Amino acid sequence: MTTPMTKRPETPTLPKTVHAWRMESPWTKDKETGRATEGRLARVELPLPEPGPGDIVVEVAGCGVCHTDLGFFYDGVPTVNKPPLALGHELSGTVVGGEPAWLGREVIVPAVLPCRSCWLCKTGRGNRCLAQKMPGSSLGAQGGFSSHIVVPALDVCPVPDRKGIPLATLAVVADAVTTPYQAALRADLRPGDHVVVVGAGGGVGVYMTQIAKALGAATVVAVDVDRERLDRALQHGADAAIDAKGKTPEEVRKEHGALLKGRGLPNYGWKLFEVSGSKPGQETALALLSFTGTLVVVGFNLAKVEYSISRLMAFDAQIIGTWGCLPERYPAVLGLVTSGHVQVDPFVELRPMSSIVETFAEAHKAGSPKRRVVLTPDF
Ligand SMILES: [Zn+2]
Ligand SMILES: [Zn+2]
Repeated sequence: MTTPMTKRPETPTLPKTVHAWRMESPWTKDKETGRATEGRLARVELPLPEPGPGDIVVEVAGCGVCHTDLGFFYDGVPTVNKPPLALGHELSGTVVGGEPAWLGREVIVPAVLPCRSCWLCKTGRGNRCLAQKMPGSSLGAQGGFSSHIVVPALDVCPVPDRKGIPLATLAVVADAVTTPYQAALRADLRPGDHVVVVGAGGGVGVYMTQIAKALGAATVVAVDVDRERLDRALQHGADAAIDAKGKTPEEVRKEHGALLKGRGLPNYGWKLFEVSGSKPGQETALALLSFTGTLVVVGFNLAKVEYSISRLMAFDAQIIGTWGCLPERYPAVLGLVTSGHVQVDPFVELRPMSSIVETFAEAHKAGSPKRRVVLTPDF
C-alpha cells in the first residue's frame, strides 16, 4: 500500500540552536499616570530544547499573527508563562527530530493541546481542558514565531497531501479555520440549516461562512460593517449579505426579517454565529436570536451587553460559548481545505518573519486586517 505522504528526508537536519522572535516585555500602562511603556520583540538565538519521550521537533514553515498575540503584546492580556517568551500558536511545519515515525512529515500544530487525562478530556470536552497547553503562552517559553518548536506528537495533525497549497498557508488551519468548525459542531449545524454569521468579513468570519456552507447550510447570511468584505463573503459561502454599517441591531433584525420573508424562509430555528467579538456585533446577534434559535459566541471582548434572558425561555432558544477545537477534528477540517470546500489562499498573506515588529504594529493599528498575515522564518 502506498500513502501519498510527503518526502521523508534521509537525515533531517536537527539544529543545535533555535532562532526566535521573543516577546521580551509586553506594552504596559501606568495605572496612575496612564503613561504607556513600549513593549519589545527581540530576535534571539537559544539552545534547542531537548525533545522528551513522545515529542517531535517541528521546523516552522509559517506562523499566523492572531488577534490573541496582539492582545498579549499590546493590551495587557497575560500569557500563562511570563515573558520573555516567543508568541505564536497558529503554526505548520516539517518534523525534523524526535519521534522517528514522524520524521519528514508535514504537520499542523493545534493551537490548543489538551492534557488528555482530566475529566473534561475524558468526556469529550478536551478543547476546554483546564490543563491545556498553547504554544506561545503555556507551552514553556516556546511559540511559533521561531525557527523550530518542540511539541508532543500526540495531537499534531499530519498533512498527507496539501494539494499544492503552501505549507505555511495551512498554518491558519490551527486556529482561524478550526475554531469555526468546532463552533459549527457546538451549534449542531446540520444540512438544511439557516445560518447568520455576524462579523462574516473578519479573520474567523471568512471561514465560519465557508464552513457553514460546506457542512450543508441551506442559507448563510453574512452580516458585517464593511461592504467590500461582504462582497468577498458572497463569493465564499454566503448566500445573502446585510450591511450593518450605521444600523442599530433592531434595524438589522428588521432587514433580516424582510430577507427571510422575501425568500420564504422560516422565522425560527436560525443558527447564529457571533464572530466579530465586538459589542455592536454581540448586540446584533442577540437581536437576531428568535424562536428555537441558537447563538454561538465565537468572538471575544470584555464589553458587557444587556439582554433580557427571559427571552430565551419565551423563544425556547439557547446561547452557547465555544473555545478552540479538539485536535482530533483537525484532519476533517484540513480535508475541507484541501478538497477546496474551504478556501484559505485568498485570505492569507505570507510575509518574512523578520518583519514581525512592523507587522504587529500594522495589525494592531488596522484592527482587523483584510488578510491574515502568516510569518515565514527567514530571521
Ligand atoms: Zn489565535
Ligand atoms: Zn485535560
